[in-house]
Amino acid sequence: MAFGVVVGALFVVERLRPLRSRKDPAPTRVGRNLTIGLLAAATTAASEIPIIAPVQRLAERRRLGLLRQCPLPRALRVVLGFLLLDYTLYIWHWLNHRTPALWRFHAVHHIDLDLDSSTGIRFHFGELALAAGFRAAQIVLLGVDDETLRAWQQCLLLSVIFHHSNFELPIEVERRLQSVIVTPRMHGIHHSTRVEETNTNFSSLLSWWDRLHRSPRVDVPQPAITIGVAGFLDPADVTLERSLALPFGDARCLIPPSA
Ligand SMILES: [Zn+2]
Repeated sequence: MAFGVVVGALFVVERLRPLRSRKDPAPTRVGRNLTIGLLAAATTAASEIPIIAPVQRLAERRRLGLLRQCPLPRALRVVLGFLLLDYTLYIWHWLNHRTPALWRFHAVHHIDLDLDSSTGIRFHFGELALAAGFRAAQIVLLGVDDETLRAWQQCLLLSVIFHHSNFELPIEVERRLQSVIVTPRMHGIHHSTRVEETNTNFSSLLSWWDRLHRSPRVDVPQPAITIGVAGFLDPADVTLERSLALPFGDARCLIPPSA
């Protein structure tokens, strides 16, 4: 319920106070992102019973993972679990930009020609299937319990919708937020067509991991950013059919923009 209110409010305010001008204001774009997002959500839900739940039970039964091996107070284990989940997601996102096989799927998210809250759900179902495998690895290696994982996932989902939104926050508010979480201006730079801009700001919830790895960038004015992926700037490249088929064919997607 609260999630729906936040997402609905962002959907409205990003239209009242846009951060970047839109290339494609047509409702068909939002419908396309919603369709891709529903397929992604179905994939995540379908991975829960056969993969995530059994892996969590196995990890609990055999006391697998870093945090289960350390005799820590519960509160500290929860905080460390939250931080480690978020940090390892930074690494996963970075790998998605460095590995051709992963980039094929992640590129579907990046080829959106505009960036708003609907882009935050525009992930190819293949990327979410691969992410389920990564989530299983996080559970087994980190030893996070189910409640910590769910709390982090809920915060992450809200953060992802927020930092993809096209909402222009007052610059002072954004600067303060940037010291803790990823903001719309930060993530706008990550969605740039320019290599030196897209290969920055890989964090998804807490912004600290970019500072840790010296990959933050906040000095690019939003009007100077072209959103998308070089070679896919024609609206004909980002239709629903092309977007869903992209990981399985187009050779232009073989090379991540870092290569
Ligand atoms: Zn990315």
